[in-house]
Amino acid sequence: MAILGVTGWLFLRPETVSPRVILTGGEVLTMSPTAGARSVEAVLVENGLITAVGALADFSDKDAQIYDLNGRVLTPGLIEPHTHPLATALLGAAVDVSGFTHSSRVEVMQTLRKAADGAALTPWLIAYGWDPVAIADLAPPSLSELDEIAPDRPMVVITQMLHEVFANSAAMAAASVPFQSEQHQEGVIRDENGKATGAFRELNAVNLILGAMPTADPAMVELLLRRQYAVYAKAGYTSIGITGAVGKHEDPVGLLRDVGHDDAPLRSFLYLLSHQKGDIGGTDDFKILGTKFWMDGSPFTGGAAFADAYEDTTLTKDRMHIPHGHLGPLTPIAHDFLAKVSSLQAKGHQIAVHAQGERALDAVLAAFEAAGPAPSGVTHRIEHNALITEAQIEKARNLGISLGFFVDHIYFYGDVLPQIVGERAQRYMPVAQAMRSGAVTTLHGDHPASPLDPLRTLRVAVERRSASGETVTAPDQALTREEALRAMTLMAAEQLGQGATLGSIEVGKRADFTLFHGDPLTADWQDLAIAGTWKDGQPVHTGYSGWLRLGPVWSVFKNMLF
Ligand SMILES: [Zn+2]
Repeated sequence: MAILGVTGWLFLRPETVSPRVILTGGEVLTMSPTAGARSVEAVLVENGLITAVGALADFSDKDAQIYDLNGRVLTPGLIEPHTHPLATALLGAAVDVSGFTHSSRVEVMQTLRKAADGAALTPWLIAYGWDPVAIADLAPPSLSELDEIAPDRPMVVITQMLHEVFANSAAMAAASVPFQSEQHQEGVIRDENGKATGAFRELNAVNLILGAMPTADPAMVELLLRRQYAVYAKAGYTSIGITGAVGKHEDPVGLLRDVGHDDAPLRSFLYLLSHQKGDIGGTDDFKILGTKFWMDGSPFTGGAAFADAYEDTTLTKDRMHIPHGHLGPLTPIAHDFLAKVSSLQAKGHQIAVHAQGERALDAVLAAFEAAGPAPSGVTHRIEHNALITEAQIEKARNLGISLGFFVDHIYFYGDVLPQIVGERAQRYMPVAQAMRSGAVTTLHGDHPASPLDPLRTLRVAVERRSASGETVTAPDQALTREEALRAMTLMAAEQLGQGATLGSIEVGKRADFTLFHGDPLTADWQDLAIAGTWKDGQPVHTGYSGWLRLGPVWSVFKNMLF
């Protein structure tokens, strides 16, 4: 009986609407490029496609189900063009010590202690989100502090930007890192006596520790990923761009492909890492678009390749460990990026490349220019663009390159930005300049680097205010609400090469919608909320039955029990 009950609950299917349905009874914002954000009375959907848009009287003769919007506002489905679902799903299962939820070191250490005292569901205690930039008094944990919190169980604390980890003695032992050594090992931080501090900095050293972690049960990872897709849909997204299949798994591309098909609550578009294999193309639900590269790192780790040095402040010196005069390096990819672009674009790949500082942007733009237009007609994209200059924006626009902005930096780090980049904060994330230049301009949250919340992203692009409310960064770079919504719908679709089928409510496009309580173009922010999403002309269900699958559930239980 119990088993029947459970399976019945698992396979409960949500209600569906007729394949021919008219949505009306609320504002419809088409975001049509020819008519602005024009509001219409009704939308006719047939077999997953939008077949008419306009006044209800125009198609009331159609034998269609009427779906009452009940005063809610219908927009094209929101599109997140730059996110990492697998890493978000995995780190979402870690202990959260982030600056999004903590404001002092005492609070962070309390969270770690509580987690260590709780039930050990995983062999290692993994905490994510340590953020000395967001939390002013967050001095690094000492090894003895970590050992006191977790004396026997391996524990690792991962920084928000993923460039440093702190490991306790048990984790170092598991990774075969000697406690005492005269030998220098890149990124393994030791005191003057050669004693390990527990800190591991930058890719190689971080991987030394993370590589020693036991791999999660694949069935568990699959469940977490399916749940993560439901979380995106619940947040209001109908499509995501996966800019690099990062996340510890033996076959991340295969997993993303499987989960991306199979009744996924949203569409996913994947960029491979350069060592991953996969054919370009796919279905309407899941496509491989190209390859992701990094030309530099994060401004909050000293990794962004700026034209001028980081500021000399207490924050940069003592908490970020940035040396005087530091410019931030280009990654090794700089040496053969042009060759990579040329060969990949000939094979139909779209290139997405991370570039924050002016030097990284110069290197990327020079390579794209030298490679010439892609034979397939795909246009490439540049990610984050923190300090892109006016001249670089012009060049990108002329080359047909789209620009995606991680505008939430302003929300989470706006208060401390001047301590890192000084006057340059006045041109940080120049979203309005990019959009008004005519370049395809988009907004992203780069999860897990920020918490999933498209309404926050929309608002930050419009207000450019920090979380504390104290700082407004470069107010002249504010978008109008209509521009911000266009960046998150039509322009995001264009950036993903899907502008012909997604991104606006127009005849011939797929019936992917986001429903809002309140009008995103006019409502008070506190009155605005996501009411749901539709994909292919059907409401998306995000409850358990939307993502739980009996196969992996059984497999997880089996592995736990036997
Ligand atoms: Zn990213």
